[in-house]
Amino acid sequence: MTLSLRYYGDPILRKRAQDVVVFDAEIKQFAQALVQTMYGNPAAGLAAPQVGRSIRIFARRNFIVKEDGWLEYTDAQVFINPRITILDDELQEDEEGCLSIPNLRAQVTRPLRIRVEAFDADGKPFTEELEEYKARVVMHENDHLNGVLFVDRLDPKERKKIEPELRAIKKKYAS
Ligand SMILES: [Zn+2]
Repeated sequence: MTLSLRYYGDPILRKRAQDVVVFDAEIKQFAQALVQTMYGNPAAGLAAPQVGRSIRIFARRNFIVKEDGWLEYTDAQVFINPRITILDDELQEDEEGCLSIPNLRAQVTRPLRIRVEAFDADGKPFTEELEEYKARVVMHENDHLNGVLFVDRLDPKERKKIEPELRAIKKKYAS
């Protein structure tokens, strides 16, 4: 089952999502549908609010970096009620996009190294230390759970430049 996407301008993308309290079959099924929806789209991650559920779950695609530098996606991982700790002061700038903001990409500065503690779809806790792109994806998806979009993290000058595009996206997808 795949779920339909929500786009920039949809109020659910601006809400703070609720913790998952009960790890039941319904949550597991939803997590699977979230992963399936991610697989059906050109995305490294997907968060529940992007498919219309205001709960603290996101999925991320794992990948390997090939010899030519391109990424090859492998399996997927689900993070429920994640908590992120920034490990040091080092920052990195890289390009980001978002399925909820189609065809717009921009350079975003984020911490380089993080630790994430979360639960999997069975309610089992796990901890991971991540860096570079893997950390970036997790921070981008975690932002979605707090109603934050990557365009909010641009400096005001950059943000102003893309404002007409954002307005056009909002208009195009408003129902
Ligand atoms: Zn996104």
